[in-house]
Amino acid sequence: MYLVIGAGLSGCVVAERIAKELNKEVHIIDRRNHVGGNIHDYVDENGVMVHTYGPHAFHTNHKQVWDYLSQFTEWKPYFHHVEGYIDGQDVPIPFNFNTIEKLFPQEYANNLIHELITEFGINKKVTILELLQNEKFKDLAQFVYEKVFLGYTQKQWDKKPEELDISVSSRVPIYTSKDDRYFQDTYQAIPEQGYTKLIENMIQSPLINVSLETDFSDIDVSQYEKIIYTGMIDEYFNYSLGKLPYRSLEFTLKTIDKPQYQNTAQKNYSSNFDFTRITEYKHFLDQNTEKTTIALEYPKAYEEGINEPYYPIPSDENHALYVQYRKLAKNEKNVIFLGRLAEYKYYNMDQIVKSALYTFEKEIYVK
Ligand code: FAD
Ligand code: UDP
Repeated sequence: MYLVIGAGLSGCVVAERIAKELNKEVHIIDRRNHVGGNIHDYVDENGVMVHTYGPHAFHTNHKQVWDYLSQFTEWKPYFHHVEGYIDGQDVPIPFNFNTIEKLFPQEYANNLIHELITEFGINKKVTILELLQNEKFKDLAQFVYEKVFLGYTQKQWDKKPEELDISVSSRVPIYTSKDDRYFQDTYQAIPEQGYTKLIENMIQSPLINVSLETDFSDIDVSQYEKIIYTGMIDEYFNYSLGKLPYRSLEFTLKTIDKPQYQNTAQKNYSSNFDFTRITEYKHFLDQNTEKTTIALEYPKAYEEGINEPYYPIPSDENHALYVQYRKLAKNEKNVIFLGRLAEYKYYNMDQIVKSALYTFEKEIYVK
């Protein structure tokens, strides 16, 4: 029998593969009281599908990932749109040509757009750190840095954008386009009956059984032929090399007594407020409700036993410590480390599925 620690997306994909392809029994445990990990969702008293751990928009360019997940859900097409609150206005994020036209006088905006096309081409993504190094766009870069990135990033990570790995701020580029979508991936959609239902369908095999509110430390591992561990890698080793840092979040949910609160599912606030973003959940499935549910998102330091480790913090120093843990992990012959926490990687959902499918093929199926 196989043991999977964590009923999140990574653990459930591997469990599904083991049951289906190897026809073997799998025991999944999770210390939380539900399956799905951070993609868990539920319908609240307003009839709104709420994402328990913050806004989750599925997007991928990987057909294999899309096809795999499509076995477990129907999809509702959804393009994520985000607005940022800048100088008293709601403007499209990523910062693009529409944003420029909304914020600057017409002639200035036209010239800027022309210069950006000449320098970078059309429909190109330029990172803020790259733009800051370009002498020709000094003023624009400083404007975007201060109005879009600095305040948000300081709240989210307690660091400046340049103190983090470039991959973090690169997730939200400056886009030389009029395309207001947050992502440009080929496949973009939300599971029609929610992410939790998708996960439940994934693990419905009689060969899979799930124990909730069960911690790894409560388990006698001797009865299992292999362990797939998707928790924090530093916790697995009792923090023997020191603690890997994580960021956490606190969500304040509110019912608003009208059908709609804001135009888009997500609004980002770089300055003025303690929260980083407000999510209005009904937009994801285009739900028709009388009241609406919003969540204000407050970044926090991660504190063991108090809140959840939502984000690994990508930086050279943290990566170096992770690599040391990875060396210890190599000696654990019967344990596979997988997922956002065990690999200490800022993975999106599709990257999790891709990595779990790959790990199954390479490390489990062949053995
Ligand atoms: P998790 O979901 O963290 O699952 C790990 C599970 O293991 C948890 O349930 C935990 O309780 C359990 N566990 C850990 N240790 C133990 C233990 N010792 N014993 C028992 N159980 C244990 N991705 C996108 O593609 N699009 C988005 O829009 C998006 N938005 C996001 C917004 C937020 C706020 C966050 C935090 C993430 C977002 N993601 C998004 C990323 C997505 O949530 C992750 O990629 C995915 O959920 C990671 O799955 P996982 O299984 O690796 O980890
Ligand atoms: N970011 C920002 N301002 C924004 C949007 C994003 O500064 O309006 C930065 C911030 O550092 C954030 C990172 O870009 O943490 C990645 O943003 P993303 O929307 O991908 O964050 P996630 O949804 O993963 O929390």
